[in-house]
Amino acid sequence: MPGTSFVLAQEQWFEVPLSDRIASYDIEVKLDTELHRLTATQTIYWQNPSDDTIRTIPFHLYLNAFKNTESTFYRESLGSGRFPDLENTTEADWGWINIDKIKIGDGEDLSRQLRYIHPDDDNTEDKTVIELALLQPILPRAKAVLNLTWTAKIPKIKIRTGYSKDFYLQAQWFPKIGVYESAGMRFAKTGQWNCHQYHPTTEYYADFGNYNVSINAPDAFIVGASGTRTKVEKQSDQTSTHHFYGEDIIDFTWTASPNFEVVKEEYLGIQLELLINSEYSCCTDRYLESAKYAIDYLGERLMPYPFPKLTIVVPPLHGINAGAMEYPTLVTAPGMYGFPDWLRSPEYFVIHEFVHQYFMMMVATNEFEEAWMDEGFTSYWKSRILDDAYGVKNSVIDLRWVRMGAMEFFRSRYVGMDNIHLAESTRAGWEYPNGSPRALFYSKPATWLKTLEGIVGLETMDEIMKTYFNRWKFKHPCRYDFIDVVNEVVVEKHGDEFGENMNWFFDFVLYGTGACDYSVGSIQHLETAMATIGIWEDSLIIKNQNPQKKYQAKVVLERLEEIQLPVDILVCFVDGTKVWERWDGKARTHGLTYDTDVRIDYVEIDPLQKIYMDINILNNSKRTEPNTRSIWAYVSSWGMRIQQVFQGVSFFI
Ligand SMILES: [Zn+2]
Repeated sequence: MPGTSFVLAQEQWFEVPLSDRIASYDIEVKLDTELHRLTATQTIYWQNPSDDTIRTIPFHLYLNAFKNTESTFYRESLGSGRFPDLENTTEADWGWINIDKIKIGDGEDLSRQLRYIHPDDDNTEDKTVIELALLQPILPRAKAVLNLTWTAKIPKIKIRTGYSKDFYLQAQWFPKIGVYESAGMRFAKTGQWNCHQYHPTTEYYADFGNYNVSINAPDAFIVGASGTRTKVEKQSDQTSTHHFYGEDIIDFTWTASPNFEVVKEEYLGIQLELLINSEYSCCTDRYLESAKYAIDYLGERLMPYPFPKLTIVVPPLHGINAGAMEYPTLVTAPGMYGFPDWLRSPEYFVIHEFVHQYFMMMVATNEFEEAWMDEGFTSYWKSRILDDAYGVKNSVIDLRWVRMGAMEFFRSRYVGMDNIHLAESTRAGWEYPNGSPRALFYSKPATWLKTLEGIVGLETMDEIMKTYFNRWKFKHPCRYDFIDVVNEVVVEKHGDEFGENMNWFFDFVLYGTGACDYSVGSIQHLETAMATIGIWEDSLIIKNQNPQKKYQAKVVLERLEEIQLPVDILVCFVDGTKVWERWDGKARTHGLTYDTDVRIDYVEIDPLQKIYMDINILNNSKRTEPNTRSIWAYVSSWGMRIQQVFQGVSFFI
């Protein structure tokens, strides 16, 4: 019935705000499914968080990355396959966004005060950041209301956002204000805007706020979005307007398709909504059950998921490039018809993107500049959850002869890098040589976080993570803030066991480009017991012809690469005696000597696999002679069965 509205939920989420709500948005957008266009009015409520007077405001116009081949996004994407078949493109393939009008409050239109800026490169053709020169400055701590009207052409999905046939995934779709960093925030020495151009290797950075978004789409379309649906209004022109609301979120993403099946469930007070095409409905339970497992796991260890909604979107196969991405209270997870049970891809993606609800949507680091703080933490926790749920050895692939766990998978990606010494992990996303820095954002930090867990112990690691998360949620930390928490918690729990602080660890793994490789160099035995023989009373006398053999056993351990970490060593003698040793791992070589009645059977470095980032575990053990026990020790060492097989496996993103 035209004009009828259905109130579906109360708007307010939290009695006490979780964040500072610096940038809030009201957006009314109309989707034209014939022309693939958006027309919108938008109000931004922005609060100057600083003691500075603000004279300019930059905005992200992400959709302009898809405007033409001269955008920085396009130029840096060359060879990535994101823009295939250039000769056959039509206007329908490309996308853009244009601010038609912009006002402060009810003031005059300031659109002539807009100009494109290029803070990251000298590409004057890039139109992904636009700056407004204010006629009246915004005073310290003052609030400003900006009213915009804008138009956008939706691109065909190349990555994350766009349309494919009648499926729409609208991410990075509206003008988004940059983040003003006051002096002392992150790396800012003086107050400054942080608003980078759109690069293919970077994601996003935004302030928290509340979102009131109404989306008008043809009646046939089922609409899902960040936030909770508060109202649906049927209009007289065979369209409906869907109202959504969210608090303390950094972004807003929505999807529309006439082909979604909607599966709803409530879990621990959270509305779970799965939007899935019917060809994938066989996997419905797998998406929902894995989400619930992750909700429980992080709820126990970090904080219960605070938002009232989680929407999981499974794009159709033709729109799969919109899959595997995280947005506030909404994730996308690629589907495939008849996913076999042994390939835990639905679980892998749902859990990964759900972890981002914590490490992007709440901790909200700057993904342009410190991508590892988002993807690295997410990869570490995702692996813990998957391995806990489905098994350390088989959480990703679970065939009889081919098995792989999630943490193993990340380690294999890290040690399988073409150049493991490529660069430190602290560069901005577009500053890496030789293309993709993915391993430096995902698998390397996941692997050294697992190594840190091995060194300080799981209990301490959980304390570090819980402290870091709860201290910095909704506050945009940088790497210094995490390192400070590590130093604080480790010293509190272990005193000076690992030194004055853990800065040395980060010098190696985060700021350094070295690798870690310990090796058993050699095991040697010198026979020391001999017959008692010599001259006694002018005669040669052999006092005991068959003395018991004795040995001096010498073991040489080697550090083959740059990184120095404390390692445990297991020395096992042929009579079954086991001796545990500890080496600070600093020198290039380290010797162990035993005066013993029996020979050493085998020596193994790091048998408990604490130093997860050791790049070659085949050289971690050595046996004196082949015998069944030492062969078993060799074979049973965790990764030796599989490491080489899977190094470089790269069929997940
Ligand atoms: Zn991710």
